[in-house]
Amino acid sequence: MTAAPQVVPFARPDITEAEVTAVAEALRSGWVTSGPQMRAFEEEFAAHLGGGVEAVAVNSATAGLHLALEACGIGPGDEVIVPTWTFTSTAEVVRYLGATPVLVDVDPVTLNIDLGEVASALGPQTRAVMPVHLAGLGVDVAALRARVGDSVRIIEDAAHALPTSNGGDVVGSCLRSEAAVFSFYATKTITTGEGGMITTRDPEIAARARIMRLHGIDRDAFNRYAFDTAGWAYDVVAPGFKYNMGDPAAAMGRVQLARSAEMHERRQRIASRYHEAFADLPLALPVHPPAPDTHAWHLYMVRVLDEAPVDRDGLERLLSEKGIGTSLHFIPLHLLSVWRESLGVVPEDFPVATREFGRVLSLPLFSAMSRAQVERVISAVREAMRA
Ligand SMILES: *Cc1c(COP(=O)(O)O)cnc(C)c1O
Repeated sequence: MTAAPQVVPFARPDITEAEVTAVAEALRSGWVTSGPQMRAFEEEFAAHLGGGVEAVAVNSATAGLHLALEACGIGPGDEVIVPTWTFTSTAEVVRYLGATPVLVDVDPVTLNIDLGEVASALGPQTRAVMPVHLAGLGVDVAALRARVGDSVRIIEDAAHALPTSNGGDVVGSCLRSEAAVFSFYATKTITTGEGGMITTRDPEIAARARIMRLHGIDRDAFNRYAFDTAGWAYDVVAPGFKYNMGDPAAAMGRVQLARSAEMHERRQRIASRYHEAFADLPLALPVHPPAPDTHAWHLYMVRVLDEAPVDRDGLERLLSEKGIGTSLHFIPLHLLSVWRESLGVVPEDFPVATREFGRVLSLPLFSAMSRAQVERVISAVREAMRA
C-alpha cells in the first residue's frame, strides 16, 4: 500500500534566513571555492570544541575519515577495527587505502562498539580502530585507549556527535584519539548540505590532511628548493584527492555552528518528551548518558520488544500510514553484500547486532520539528504499540 502524504518527515534541515543570507553573501563575494569562509569556519569550529585542536574542513565526513586514516599511514596489509553497527562509509574508507576492516559486535545496551570485542579482535596487523558515537551517545574513548594501547591509532567517527561528551571529554577535542571526523550531511545535527570536519591535536595529521584534501599540493615544499618568492610556486608531493569545502558551504556552516547550541537544546527537549511519553510502552528507549555528559540526539532509536503487539516492520507501517517518516540506522555492515562477501562473515559472528537489527527503528527528531509534529509522533506510536 502507498503511504499517506507525509505530515512529519523523518528529518528536515533547520535553515533560517541567516543561512540564506550568509550563502548569498558568499556567492556575491566572487569567491566560491575554498577561501576566507572556509578558514573562518575551521577556526570557529576548533574554538567551539574548546580549542587546542586544528580543524580541517572537507566536502564530506567520508572524505575526512579517508584523509584521517591516510594521514595515520594506514595502508595495504593493515587491519582497522570497525563496529558492524555503522554506516558503510566507516568501513569503505579502510578499503580505499587497501587495508582491511575488521568488524566487531556492539554492546547490547548502547549499540556502540563493544570494547571486549575490540580486545579480542586486536592482532599483530591492527593499526587503528574507529569508534562510532552512535546517534550521538559517546563511546568511552578513555577505556578504548586503555584496551588498545598507545600504538593503535584511534580515529573517531563523530558523524553523529556534535555535541557529545563522554566522561567529561568533548568529542572532537581528541584528548585520547588521533582524530575525530564530523559530518554536515543534510540530516546531521548541523548541515552544510554536504560537508565534514576533521579535528586533531597532531599538527602532522592536520598538515597531511590539508595537503591531501587538495591534490597533494604543498606550497611550502616547492618553496623550500627554489622559487621561494614566486606566488605561483607549488609542489605536488603525493597523488592527493579533491576533498576541499567551498566557501558557500562554509558560510552556511558558520551560521549553523553559531546556532548549534539552540538547535541542540531543541533536540534534547524532543528526546525528553519522547522518553516520558514512551516510558510505559513495550519499547527499549535510547540510553541517556550520566550527567553531566552530553548526548547529541542526532537520532532517537527505539527497539520494539518481543511482547509488543506489533514488530518493528509493523510499527514502521502503522507510522507510515499516518504520514510519519521513519528510518533505520543501520543495517549492520555484516549483512551487506560487499562486506559479507569480501570479509567472509556470517550473521552468527555478530549475535548482538544481528538480533537488535530486527527490532530497531529511528523516529523523527530534528530541531525544526514543531510541537504539534512531536505530539503527532507520540500519539501514533502510542496507538500502534497498544493495538
Ligand atoms: C553520515 C555518516 C557518515 C558519512 O557522512 P558524509 O558526510 O555523508 O560522508 C559516516 N559515518 C556515519 C556513522 C554516518 O552516519
